[in-house]
Amino acid sequence: MDSMLFREVAEHYEKLEAASSRLKMMELLSELFKEAKQGEIRKLIYMTQGILVPNFEGIEFGVAEKMLAEAIAAATGYTKEQVESAYKRHGDMGETALDLKKSTKLRRMSSKELDASEVYDTMLKMAKTSGQGSKDAKIKLLAELLASASPLEAKYMARYPIGQLRLGVGDSTILEALSISMTGSRDAKKELENAYNLCSDLGEVGETLAMKGIGAINRFGVALFKPIRPALAERLPTAEEILKKMGGKCAVEQKYDGFRCQIHKDGKKVKIYSRNLEETTGMYPDIVEYVTTGIKAQRTIFEGEALAFNESTEQFLPFQETIQRKRKHGIEEKATELPLHLFAFDLMMLDDRDYMKEPYETRRKALERTIGSAKGMSPTTRIIAIEAKQLEAFFETSVENGLEGIVAKDLNAPYIAGAREFSWIKMKRSYKGALSDTVDLVIVGYFLGRGSRAAFRFGGLLCAVYNPKRDIFETISKIGTGFTEANMEAFRQLLDKSVVKSKPARVDSDITPDFWVEPKHVVTVRADEITKSPMHTCGRERDESGNEVGYALRFPRIVGDGFVRKDKSTSEATTTKEVKEMYRQQKRVGVS
Ligand code: ATP
Repeated sequence: MDSMLFREVAEHYEKLEAASSRLKMMELLSELFKEAKQGEIRKLIYMTQGILVPNFEGIEFGVAEKMLAEAIAAATGYTKEQVESAYKRHGDMGETALDLKKSTKLRRMSSKELDASEVYDTMLKMAKTSGQGSKDAKIKLLAELLASASPLEAKYMARYPIGQLRLGVGDSTILEALSISMTGSRDAKKELENAYNLCSDLGEVGETLAMKGIGAINRFGVALFKPIRPALAERLPTAEEILKKMGGKCAVEQKYDGFRCQIHKDGKKVKIYSRNLEETTGMYPDIVEYVTTGIKAQRTIFEGEALAFNESTEQFLPFQETIQRKRKHGIEEKATELPLHLFAFDLMMLDDRDYMKEPYETRRKALERTIGSAKGMSPTTRIIAIEAKQLEAFFETSVENGLEGIVAKDLNAPYIAGAREFSWIKMKRSYKGALSDTVDLVIVGYFLGRGSRAAFRFGGLLCAVYNPKRDIFETISKIGTGFTEANMEAFRQLLDKSVVKSKPARVDSDITPDFWVEPKHVVTVRADEITKSPMHTCGRERDESGNEVGYALRFPRIVGDGFVRKDKSTSEATTTKEVKEMYRQQKRVGVS
């Protein structure tokens, strides 16, 4: 059979970009997947995600806009300055490439059409080029591709390596489209999602489905050096409620504020993955040593929180200290100065036995045996509680010791990968006030500055929560405060790179911002309160008087360093369900 042409991919991408509903996107995407041959589906999925390999493999394009501009110049015969001025006009490298390819007098380099695989392979080769002279080598590879491309192909070829595909496709969209394209219905989505939660690799899931069928998807298990998507905790504000939810008995663990580490060990080979599934082994020479010298098991996958800890005084250090370990240089020195201690809280695999479906208590026992008396590591401190008083007292002691609070765990629950469930419930010291927990929101648009802000061409953000049930972003807030001048400039520059012409298909909004942007950036926001509002689509329902009301934030402001969160993806943003739950809890605690 013939291989898939990149032209077909580009044509589908163009239609996807213009799709006005999620349904339409799904139709287009499944049609595209259906056309891929077995050996192509993995590459096609990565391409559609705008990546080359799953994030945990850490291969990036390494192409700056300037390099791309040079490649476009070489491929079209225009000067760099001409490319840059076209870019100023279009505000988009894709449109720039399309425009210049249309008007160039240079003939297309080859008469043969490009295969989709060929484009992917060249991009991967380009990404892997490193060392002296690599910049020029990359530009050359890219220029050759662009020279052989049609204008429409060039548009997506230019956007892909700079992370600006602007298709608005998410993980869940891809999973559903895969299900439709290969099984004829969306029913297999759940099974595909389970497999994805175990390997964090959509390409792998798609390829397994294409080559081995749904049976193989159902047999998917954990595997070394494929990070498992982390289990997440729900929230509840009181000990009574936690115990009730847990059926009267549960484990209660101290909650440590550090870095989540998922550790994979195969003999002497050790890798560590972060909360957002990036490989961070290099950051932790001390933990790697504890694991290689202290853990007897040949093969294991387990998880814990690493934080700065004074082993002599047994004091926990605040997060501000721990965070200093996040660095690119001087790692070894800092590790000596500020060693970390790993508080292990779960175990997923031990000597080739998959523990994912085992109850918490069985996993915990296996974890305790595995850690033994290894240096620098210990299982989390915990109690088994049957009374609210016990739970409450344990919470208070944890907080007094400088910890964040507790995580209660259902004794019988399996490890629920990639989901926020009540098998883990967190209670943090701050819950007892007004809305003191922050929310992570997705930017879907921005407003132009008015009055004194007109100079910055930036006046605020339109933000949304994620509704995984609908796979749609629902607006919850306009954010106009908390920006410094530098911030405003930075936001505008960043967002301009993902501006789209009309409302993205997966955004539900009644408000029209000055510019829509592809949902891809997350910001952390603090607010005084969650209120009901007819303006926003978050959790919108008909109230008793028949009016449609959603949820909104009162006095929202950006927190953290005031900019986008690089470590969170849009599917990890706060969900509609969480907002509803926070609203309910806030009402009961009573906001003063
Ligand atoms: P989430 O990770 O739930 O999205 P978040 O990033 O705001 O939310 P927290 O609210 O601090 O994190 O709560 C969950 C995190 O707490 C876990 O991801 C883990 O890193 C950390 N943690 C600390 N102690 C424990 C423990 N004993 N059991 C489970 N997780 C723990």
